[in-house]
Amino acid sequence: MRKEKILIIEDEQNIVSFLTTILAANDYQVLSAFNGKEAISIAASHAPDLILLDLGLPDMDGALVLQQVREWTDTPLIVVSARQDEQEKVRLLDMGANDYMTKPFGNSELLARIRTALRQHTRLKNGGAQPGNVFTANLLRIDYTRRLITIDNQPVHLTPIEYKLVILLAKYAGMVLTHDYILHEIWGPYASDNQLLRVNMANIRRKIEPNPADPQYLLTEVGVGYRLIDGTE
Ligand code: CA
Repeated sequence: MRKEKILIIEDEQNIVSFLTTILAANDYQVLSAFNGKEAISIAASHAPDLILLDLGLPDMDGALVLQQVREWTDTPLIVVSARQDEQEKVRLLDMGANDYMTKPFGNSELLARIRTALRQHTRLKNGGAQPGNVFTANLLRIDYTRRLITIDNQPVHLTPIEYKLVILLAKYAGMVLTHDYILHEIWGPYASDNQLLRVNMANIRRKIEPNPADPQYLLTEVGVGYRLIDGTE
């Protein structure tokens, strides 16, 4: 089997060594770039399967690397930042980052996020939700052909908007979708009513969650957006 290639964009040599060791031990092939210019060139010439992008680079803002890379590839990209900043997180996700991690993070978290991003990318490449396809995450099941959602084999009755929301989240299961992204996808380019989104999400939770106050399927990323679990977490 072909090893998946991960490009680490990071200027601190000790972090690069550390990440390289973990990733190599988990059967990934590792490439690294120490600045933005080199990163863009390696991303173009080596077509990595996934990119880990540090935001603080010596020659340019990591966001600029993201922007340039997104002009020609949808390779999964995880931003790694030292800052816990919701605004920035939202901005980078809306620019096309697939995920965002704040330093320091544990090895297992890193590996889980990488697996999720790779899986999600494969799912989208294979056409995502198509008639005949079924999505499952634990006891949640979506039968796209029958437009039927069940929890533990019990049908869930959703409004058309709630159904569209669940379908959208399932398409990107495992990934955080920002409030604006969801609003625009469901209600159109001018939608900006977060309250409308919150109410619908609360209603979905009441219908699918065993305990809506402690959701297991539809998770909130505070200040950023929502994420449906992808069933392997
Ligand atoms: Ca750095």
